[in-house]
Amino acid sequence: MERREFFKVAAAAGLGTAAQTPGMAETTVAGPAPFIERANPGQPHKGKVFALITPHLDDGPIFAGGTIAKLLNEGYTGYFIRVSNDEKDSYNLTMGETVLVNEQDAARFVEVAGLRKRYDLEYRNHGLDDVSRMEIRVRLIFLFRLLKVDTVLSYDPWGHYEENPDHYVTAQAVEAACWTAADHLDFPEQFDVGLKAHSVREKYYFARGPQLVNRVVDIGPTIKQKATYIASCRNMITNMVKSTNESLAARGLRIAAFSGPQEAANEEYIQAAFLERDKRIGAKYGLEYAEEFHYIGPSHELDDYIRAHAQRI
Ligand SMILES: [Zn+2]
Repeated sequence: MERREFFKVAAAAGLGTAAQTPGMAETTVAGPAPFIERANPGQPHKGKVFALITPHLDDGPIFAGGTIAKLLNEGYTGYFIRVSNDEKDSYNLTMGETVLVNEQDAARFVEVAGLRKRYDLEYRNHGLDDVSRMEIRVRLIFLFRLLKVDTVLSYDPWGHYEENPDHYVTAQAVEAACWTAADHLDFPEQFDVGLKAHSVREKYYFARGPQLVNRVVDIGPTIKQKATYIASCRNMITNMVKSTNESLAARGLRIAAFSGPQEAANEEYIQAAFLERDKRIGAKYGLEYAEEFHYIGPSHELDDYIRAHAQRI
């Protein structure tokens, strides 16, 4: 996220900042009742691999942090692919300083979450619409094949009214890479270094605006982990807090809890802007806290036919 996006979160959270854009990330396109995914006992996902793919460090922690924690708790190995260099998200730092501090925070997020590794694609922040989608797609296909990615978490390529080109370009590249990674005629030269065609089978897509929600993840058990993930994006959250304070001051207002020591102010902000939003989403489904997704799983179209006709060989 960046400053403009944050204002909308703040607005949605009732913080009364400048840009009062209603409905952000809390509007659902009409459809059948979503499936509620709850905590599983044990580690049913052991051996499976997910990749979180977002242009910016804070996208995943904010929109899917509780689900990321749940999948890791249940045995997944996780990777983070950060598509942009996050050079535009800071408060009063130079661009060079911004790149460095966000890179350091990205390392902290990976460590705090217990992800296996981070890959930075380093495209310029706010400039992804000027990058070949095919180039991003090929890099993702390489990583999907290398890491044998079973599941991706990313922005919804069909999410409505997304204004940030970094978000929708990343989303489209991810979606295209997921199925073309399985094709033996797509970039076959990669097979000469030992890679194999590989299919991504599950997708959890989140959106800042309206989307067709068909899966709701109960993040009550992982809400504290989510808060620590968001807090690890220290520079970005600090930017949000300081920008809010500036906006409030322009209106002659002040929130004491946002004005104290930075770490405490950030914690209060995370609670007010993000965890409260998750609580409102949860209330729609009878849960304490929840995250919404458009989920795409493996096809079961041939299951009945296979059950009826397949023979052991
Ligand atoms: Zn973002």
